[in-house]
Amino acid sequence: MKRDSFLLQHSRRQFIQRSTLGLSALAFGSPLLARSSYIKNSKENKLGIALVGLGNYATNQLAPSLLETEHCYLAGIVTGTKEKEAKWMEQYGIPAGNVYNYENFDEIANNKDIDIVYVVLPNSMHAEYTIRAAKAGKHVICEKPMGLSVKECEAMIAACDANKVKLSIGYRLHFDPYHMEIIKIQKEKPFGAVKYVNAEFGFRIGDPTQWRLRGDLAGGGAIMDVGVYCIQGARYATGEEPIAVTAREFKTDPVKFAEVDETVTWEMEFPSGAIANCTTSYAFSTNRLHLGMEKGTAEVQPSYSYSGLAGHINRKTMSFPKMRQQAAQMDNFAQVIKTGGESEVSGQEGLLDLKVVEAMYKSIKKKGKRVKV
Ligand code: NAD
Repeated sequence: MKRDSFLLQHSRRQFIQRSTLGLSALAFGSPLLARSSYIKNSKENKLGIALVGLGNYATNQLAPSLLETEHCYLAGIVTGTKEKEAKWMEQYGIPAGNVYNYENFDEIANNKDIDIVYVVLPNSMHAEYTIRAAKAGKHVICEKPMGLSVKECEAMIAACDANKVKLSIGYRLHFDPYHMEIIKIQKEKPFGAVKYVNAEFGFRIGDPTQWRLRGDLAGGGAIMDVGVYCIQGARYATGEEPIAVTAREFKTDPVKFAEVDETVTWEMEFPSGAIANCTTSYAFSTNRLHLGMEKGTAEVQPSYSYSGLAGHINRKTMSFPKMRQQAAQMDNFAQVIKTGGESEVSGQEGLLDLKVVEAMYKSIKKKGKRVKV
């Protein structure tokens, strides 16, 4: 399905569903809201998704989004925490036979309810669970960053190819209308070519004991976590692959960030001569994607959030109905599986980003020396 019509349809439908649901819920209270969600979550003709890792993102974004999807539903879970099992089974109507843990995960191969495995684990576990899911014959969505290295990404793609399953990365912004508009103006060039991109994404990270600050589990700091959105943004805003990067790291808290990067600024050079200037941080908030074109500017700010995006193209304000990025993302993948073709956020997308990430870490090591991608 053409992406533009898919998204328009999706955001309109969700908008209508939301308005109707909102009114029903106001008029009759929450049981009706739950019943409506259940009806929308009926399994007919939908592909079953199993979430692997029931942490923050799976609990607060993906599972609620799966109540709004039209082409897939939450069929199963994989968790190492026994107490979560009953709660999720009850909340999402998951049968006991579709509940797995990390020990018996591979038995998912025999489960006909599950078509897609969605890996939502710490970064260092992405490759292992993607490869095991592929070997179990399941299509895979893997969260960003795809893996810890280019080598891991290549192994993940090879495993999916060998087992004839599709692989997609959790790049939800490709299905958000603000970012789709950016991609559109890059392709159609109504204001000339994109010559400059400024992409920044950072937040102040809390709990010093969390896995995101551990080198072995996270594989890196702000770059791996939110910097990849800037790499992505610069790549789709220019429509080109970078040829070289220069990057520098700034550490203000060497204890907290002993194992991972804290704040990184970098430049990316593209074959046409376009350049991107990017920043990512675990020390401060920043959230924007800015394009300098031959005949004007475009900007989305905030840019990488789940909702509440805002932006303009020259002086024209962009305005789109509310939608759920993750629902659109998962529905798109389910449709790709049903109708054939390749996900536009395939493993190749994740791999290309990791190539840039590796070049950035090399440049940081060489104190900001230019490194070819
Ligand atoms: P989280 O810490 O909230 O959840 C991680 C889950 O993994 C937990 O359920 C935890 O129990 C489980 N786990 C299994 N083995 C573990 C181990 N050895 N150490 C720690 N946890 C272990 O993290 P999260 O925020 O849900 O992030 C999970 C993944 O999703 C990450 O790769 C992250 O980059 C990605 N993510 C993507 C988005 C997005 O917008 N696409 C947003 C948030 C997170």
